[in-house]
Amino acid sequence: MRILFFLLIIFLLPLNAHAKLIKSFSDEVVRQTLQTVYNQCRSDTSGKVADYIPALAKGDPKHFGIVICTVDGKMYKIGDTDVTFAIESISKIFSLALALEDAGRETILKNVGVYHTGLPFNSIIASDVREVILQNPLVNVGAITTTSYINGTDSNDKWRRELDKFNLFAGRKLTVMEDVFRSEAETNQHNRALAWQFSSFGYLKGDPDDATLRYTRACSVGITCKDLAVMGATLANQGCNPVTGKQVVKKEFVRDILSVMTIAGLYDSTGPFFFRTGLPAKSGVGGGIVAVVPGRFAIATFSPPLDKFGNSARGVKAMTKLSENLELHVLNP
Ligand code: GLN
Repeated sequence: MRILFFLLIIFLLPLNAHAKLIKSFSDEVVRQTLQTVYNQCRSDTSGKVADYIPALAKGDPKHFGIVICTVDGKMYKIGDTDVTFAIESISKIFSLALALEDAGRETILKNVGVYHTGLPFNSIIASDVREVILQNPLVNVGAITTTSYINGTDSNDKWRRELDKFNLFAGRKLTVMEDVFRSEAETNQHNRALAWQFSSFGYLKGDPDDATLRYTRACSVGITCKDLAVMGATLANQGCNPVTGKQVVKKEFVRDILSVMTIAGLYDSTGPFFFRTGLPAKSGVGGGIVAVVPGRFAIATFSPPLDKFGNSARGVKAMTKLSENLELHVLNP
């Protein structure tokens, strides 16, 4: 009898662990919630596809997908989850992961900062008036400066190491969308100006144009909504990719990345976004957003039309509804 009881406990343990991941929700509830939220958001045609980078203007405003990936690698998908799009600013969190490992937490705090700027993501004024108290790794100048702290024997080696890191997060080999890269490299004078400005303050390491070019290449990496969910789930899973089982970033830095996402992941609407969803998240002008529920799962959305802050309009709406329906606010455990 005792043995039977023991066997029953052993058998039930994994079920219990899985139940904990999705809290008190069954698979069916998660699927239904996903379907309802998808239907509610699909008809929202607000926002405008980014066109300040010419290649991004080709984005299809109808595309919309949502993927949830749990820390045990289980996926829930709906909509356009296999369409490739440019990772854009979401790359900043994965570049930060490598820079933290290469240069350490203090270097990033000292040369980039973790301050909310209160100004647009590419503001020259922000870096001028904020010279003393710096910015954060998720605005352009902060990300370019962060990129400058990635180690390597030369520029190619630094880029190879960065792309390798992205691949580890995604659990597959990613590639640069060359048309996006070319278009962005031809029109990135503004970002170069930001990099030179931070270089003149003495914060940026090495050649500012080289750091800007590697940053631009990182923004042009193509991903799908599924990739993004796995990348986010790796952060939810303390840096261990739940699909490949590989530790891809040191555990100790995951909380740094999530902290920066919490304070600045959605630019100037990070405040209202966190207030409603309670989730660390990161958006990109390619239409992607990833949100992390630490220890449980990640949600990735993809839809190109952007709101006035530069965040996917459907994505923000879907994240908000999912967080409300599944009670995900991290401050309300
Ligand atoms: N590559 C874009 C830029 O530098 C990224 C901006 C974004 O996604 N918010 O402007």
